[in-house]
Amino acid sequence: MPLVLYDTLRRAPVPFEPLVPGTARVYTCGPTVHDFAHIGNLRTFLFEDLLRRTLAARGFALTQVMNLTDVDDKIIAKAQAAGLPIGDFTARYTEAFFEDLATLRIERAERYPAATAHIEAMVALIQRLQAGGHTYTADDGSIYFRITTFPGYGRLSGIALSGMQDGARVAADEYDKEDPKDFALWKAAALPETGWETPLGYGRPGWHIECSAMAMAYLGESFDIHTGGVDNIFPHHENEIAQSEAATGHPFARYWLHAEHLIVDGQKMAKSLGNFFTLRDLLGRGYSPRAIRYLLLSVHYRTPLNFTFAGLDQAAAALERITAFARRLAELPAPAPGALPDPDWTARAGQAAAGFAAAIDDDLNTSRALGVLFEWIRDANRALDAGLATAADRAAGDAVLATFDRLYDVLEPDPGDGALAADVEALIRDRETARSARDFARADGIRDELAGLGIVLEDTPQGVRWKRLTRP
Ligand code: AMP
Ligand code: ZN
Repeated sequence: MPLVLYDTLRRAPVPFEPLVPGTARVYTCGPTVHDFAHIGNLRTFLFEDLLRRTLAARGFALTQVMNLTDVDDKIIAKAQAAGLPIGDFTARYTEAFFEDLATLRIERAERYPAATAHIEAMVALIQRLQAGGHTYTADDGSIYFRITTFPGYGRLSGIALSGMQDGARVAADEYDKEDPKDFALWKAAALPETGWETPLGYGRPGWHIECSAMAMAYLGESFDIHTGGVDNIFPHHENEIAQSEAATGHPFARYWLHAEHLIVDGQKMAKSLGNFFTLRDLLGRGYSPRAIRYLLLSVHYRTPLNFTFAGLDQAAAALERITAFARRLAELPAPAPGALPDPDWTARAGQAAAGFAAAIDDDLNTSRALGVLFEWIRDANRALDAGLATAADRAAGDAVLATFDRLYDVLEPDPGDGALAADVEALIRDRETARSARDFARADGIRDELAGLGIVLEDTPQGVRWKRLTRP
């Protein structure tokens, strides 16, 4: 079955066929490193991680490039307020960004080019556009892209060229534009403002040209997939297409994938609205990175995800159901000598793995994939309760979990969890010892102590099982 992805440009799900068979070249709009990422940003980065892992699982050789926007007006203003050179200011948040990726097990892209290290490539691209007659220079020396020179403008976002009234007021620093939708390729500046001395004069690049120049530098003028959040569609990606295709004369990215937002009370989570949480905020409240990763991956990426703490608690509980089941599989009783795997169990496991993969192949439909997984876990738990499975069946069960975890990557404990699990098991052993010695007061005391840690015990014929309540 082909991998089908929803292409924003064609407004349809389309089978993924890369330009070069067997390879996938992906460009991802990265963070603006002026602050800690919020979990909305991280939802988009997790969608991109899921895409990456899905492509890798299907055997594509991957080149993913994610830029770091390390110069823009906001960065310049904030660095100035902090009394730091912009490089020192952004270094701190770049480091925090990579820490967040590692905490959430987001796989590293092949490259993370920084905008400030690619000014020359941006200047060269602007010069190409100048030579092709796609630009004009304002009185202050800033250079704009003239959108009427690119007839395809508006195709990605569906925005009508005639839709904006002439003379609409635009950002104060762009008052020289001939058309409100023309956009700055180069912003002229004067010392001591931050800028670069270039053949275009002293100044700095506009945001959009950064991505076109860095994508082309590492992926070529045409590549496979371009991703970002839905807020990137207009104007950022529309402008990227216009300036890239106007310069090269051929298609830029062949598939445009956009993640819907993480929202809070119906509004986009955003720094500017003050309705955001960073990863650190949630870790500080005792949530595990795995539960956060699980939550942000649990809803299909093209559906908005409403963030609530109740939702995060539910995600932690759902994840605990999966890990408790994985522990049960690991503890399956040894089969009788010569016993074979149970054919029903094997068939059900095969169906579950196939159903999970099919849902992912259908535009990374994680919600449906999880539905398949939980239905199987429910049936498999029943089979385990009935004593119908033995260690001979473990491999088939583990294979389903592996199919899931190759993409979700939430079953390995987080750093710190391991110590906790060992503590829990030591306490359970103490309780068993106390019970065999008929010291029930001590046994109950240990049960209470564990309850205080958010651990509940269940006495089963196979021994004691434990579960973590929602919050660690
Ligand atoms: P920025 O650092 O603002 O350039 O954003 C980094 C990425 O996060 C971009 O791909 C944005 O589209 C995405 N993004 C911003 N806000 C949200 C949100 N509330 N939910 C999901 N993604 C978002
Ligand atoms: Zn971008």
